[in-house]
Amino acid sequence: MWPCGDCECDAHGVGNGRWHIPGVIKKTGVCARRMVTDFSWQMLSFHNHYVNGNLAVPGGVTSQPGVYLEIMEIISEWMTHGKSGDG
Ligand SMILES: [Zn+2]
Repeated sequence: MWPCGDCECDAHGVGNGRWHIPGVIKKTGVCARRMVTDFSWQMLSFHNHYVNGNLAVPGGVTSQPGVYLEIMEIISEWMTHGKSGDG
């Protein structure tokens, strides 16, 4: 399951400047998980279903909402970058 962002990893200034995603977020002491919206967590949870061929609405890929496909492609792209370390 995905982390909910209710952790205490940034309590008492422990995480000061700990998180940084080049080109996305500047160095921050706020746990990066707290910046992820509920909608984004939901889309991330759908990504595994997408990878397994279970689509959002009945029909083929062309029947899916364009924005849904775009979101899934963005997640796939970032997961690839994260694994290769070239992001
Ligand atoms: Zn945290």
